[in-house]
Amino acid sequence: MSSTCTTCPYCGVGCGVIAQSDGTVSGDESHPANFGRLCSKGSALGETIDLEGRLLHPQINGQAASWEESLDLVAQKFGQAIAEHGPDSVAFYVSGQILTEDYYVANKLMKGYIGSANIDTNSRLCMASSVAGHKRAFGSDTVPGTYEDLEEADVLVLVGSNLAWCHPVLYQRVVAAKAARPEMRVINVDPRRTATSDLADLHLAIRPDGDAALFNGLLTEIATRDAVNHAYVDAHVTGFEASLAAAQSCDPSESGLSAEELRAFYDLWIGSEKVVTVYSQGVNQSACGTDKVNAILNCHLATGRIGRAGMGPFSVTGQPNAMGGREVGGLANMLACHLDLENAAHRDAVQAAWNSPTMAEKPGLKAVDLFQACADGKIKALWIMSTNPAVSLPDANGVAEAIRNVPFTVSSDMMVETDTNACCDVLLPAAGWGEKSGTVTNSERRISRQRPFLPVPAEACADWSMMCDVAKRMGFNGFDYPSEAAIFREYAALSQVAADFGRDFDITGLSDLSDADYDALKPVQWPVPKGKASGGRFFAEGGFYHADGKAKMLPIALPVQNANETYPLRLNTGRIRDQWHTMTRSGKAARLSQHLAEPFVEIHPEDAVAYGIRDAELVEVTSPTGTSILRALLTHRVQPGALFAPMHWTNSFSAPGRANAAVPSETDPVSGQPALKGGAVQIARFDAKWFGFAVSVNTMRPARPYWAVAKAANGWRAEVAGCKIPQNWEAEARAILGLTGGDATLFEDPASGSARVAITENGVLTGLFFAAPTPVAVSRQYVTGLLGTEQSPLQALAGRAGADRPDPGATVCSCFEVGVNTLKLAIEDGATSVAALGDRTCAGTNCGSCKPELQALIDASLQKVAAE
Ligand code: SF4
Repeated sequence: MSSTCTTCPYCGVGCGVIAQSDGTVSGDESHPANFGRLCSKGSALGETIDLEGRLLHPQINGQAASWEESLDLVAQKFGQAIAEHGPDSVAFYVSGQILTEDYYVANKLMKGYIGSANIDTNSRLCMASSVAGHKRAFGSDTVPGTYEDLEEADVLVLVGSNLAWCHPVLYQRVVAAKAARPEMRVINVDPRRTATSDLADLHLAIRPDGDAALFNGLLTEIATRDAVNHAYVDAHVTGFEASLAAAQSCDPSESGLSAEELRAFYDLWIGSEKVVTVYSQGVNQSACGTDKVNAILNCHLATGRIGRAGMGPFSVTGQPNAMGGREVGGLANMLACHLDLENAAHRDAVQAAWNSPTMAEKPGLKAVDLFQACADGKIKALWIMSTNPAVSLPDANGVAEAIRNVPFTVSSDMMVETDTNACCDVLLPAAGWGEKSGTVTNSERRISRQRPFLPVPAEACADWSMMCDVAKRMGFNGFDYPSEAAIFREYAALSQVAADFGRDFDITGLSDLSDADYDALKPVQWPVPKGKASGGRFFAEGGFYHADGKAKMLPIALPVQNANETYPLRLNTGRIRDQWHTMTRSGKAARLSQHLAEPFVEIHPEDAVAYGIRDAELVEVTSPTGTSILRALLTHRVQPGALFAPMHWTNSFSAPGRANAAVPSETDPVSGQPALKGGAVQIARFDAKWFGFAVSVNTMRPARPYWAVAKAANGWRAEVAGCKIPQNWEAEARAILGLTGGDATLFEDPASGSARVAITENGVLTGLFFAAPTPVAVSRQYVTGLLGTEQSPLQALAGRAGADRPDPGATVCSCFEVGVNTLKLAIEDGATSVAALGDRTCAGTNCGSCKPELQALIDASLQKVAAE
């Protein structure tokens, strides 16, 4: 069996993976991002590479088509739209999932040959506010630091970042650093208490969008305590006085924190020179996200705490190649190699290097505006690559309609059934992770290879290759690349232009790689100048990229918080530990689906009382754009007035539970990033007449008023609810289970309105269905484990394990499928540390992603004992 070093396709940590040809994966100990660690998602990659659900052949209007006719049609329709309506009538919407080489070709084709900048990426949803904040402060989109800084900091501030679930390996590095240096302090700034908060010495539950007030307050205090680094500011920074004056005019209590909490934060931040402030989607995905970024950068610039070991601001990206997309100009307002689209000299130099017939002269449409232009009929041809905007963008239903409104639409994707593909005319089968070859850049500017270790199935094809084929059909020269290595060399050579302009992005040292060198390329942090050392930090000695060489501090005003009587609650959308984006890949792994198997909304108990909602009932979350139906989870983790819902579920997994259907399309005015964490909504109890839970060996997609399905070891599990009591429970059960054959065992209690149905074939359980007028109380883990066994239907319909088979409870450790009941028993039996729980149950001993939850269970148990 052969081994291949590649890179995880999920988050922006960019972990190295060793993949075997049979699909077995392990962490790459030599990779500087993870040193052998993988999280639960990375560890389960081998379970997601089967061909089930793959798009394997081109399709035109739902019919199989040849590559020739598909590419001809794409080229003809794009060419026709450009000829009739001009270059700005076409658009690409690309993705942080595609590789740098794909991004490079897409950007070159759109900006240099079609002559429009209508290319934007789903990275707009992830970190556009960080990009805009960096450019305003530094004059370039430069991440100054490295992952080591997080470990070397004396005070690590995590703002709007649930690192434990969204960047788990980076979180594990922080946990290890804190264990080695217990004096290290971690501060978590987040309106919501998360798994990350459990590590923090100080959790500051700010009010939503209270970040700018907090960091303006910090800047004021930095000045009051004479902690300004005047030498650094005088030499390298402009805008200090105006920024300080703006900060001083703000009331820090607008952050929602008490004077004591503010004091504790100031003491720690100002009292330790080695401070790193990490920020993520909680900062970026906001209508004032760019201002929040600059409020943070202001504090680091004022103290000169930037670009040195263990200090600096650090933006972590959500996607595996969000950084590569930024570098290559994948955003509608950027040019390749961090050059500026609005700078005529930059445009001319790039056009000369490309020898291209034209060059876009103005920024194109950013994601939300792009789909609005689709809705308005301004876009005549649209190509969506490796992304699912009909789920991931705000106003998801409106986006689906907007795509349908475009006269000609193309989607290149790995999977057949996505919410977006359902709206498109032409589907092009894309090669996926494990099949394609190229490079990605992680959050610390480290370029790593994604290498193939599987054959490309059927007619699937690399994204760059299909784009080159279309470009050639449109009559463009400059797309005759023999390999992805040739694209990378051209890209690296183009960075000489950036270097000549004195820009940060210089990888000229990689421009002469042979194909063999490219194949063997080890992870390398940019800059990689020719003949000089690579990597390192930026800005310790100034050297910013504004014309005067200085950084700019910006005066930051606080956002205006308007009360909305019709939609009084704020919906914060985000991610869960074991799923990735729209679940097209991670949803295939049964063990990843057991951790949180259903869409939910966290509601504070006070709000639940006010709205008459009980735990585990269903709730309608509504905004002017749409409604999501979600399971109510009452918790003090969210503040009164705030809700939290994960964004992963799609039409394939839960059509009613698509959270972004209820997120309005508000954006940050500077970055264009959608405010996915602050939509104004209302909630109401969903009036279900019955609730059901079902498991089946068949794929289920029960079209009931509410439904959600998840992959299980031997089939599928489903939560359902209806608004009308069925006349015939067996028929209802069979319809939901997708089982027409087999023997049915039915228990029905008309008095209570409950029913239970078991289906067996030749003594083997093929389906179980439980219904009741209130949320069904059966052990999901136990019932799911019965599928495909010869358990008696009577025992199975009890819905809980007998004394001979303990119920493990809901899965906490996905790697070893250890349930919460097993863990509680072990804790009661004396395993009162994470290590002891691991010894006893194996939980947390593989990827470690569940360690925060293990610690929370131990803490809860100890508190209970102390209270007794
Ligand atoms: Fe992949 Fe997890 Fe590493 Fe992110 S932290 S790159 S999801 S293994």
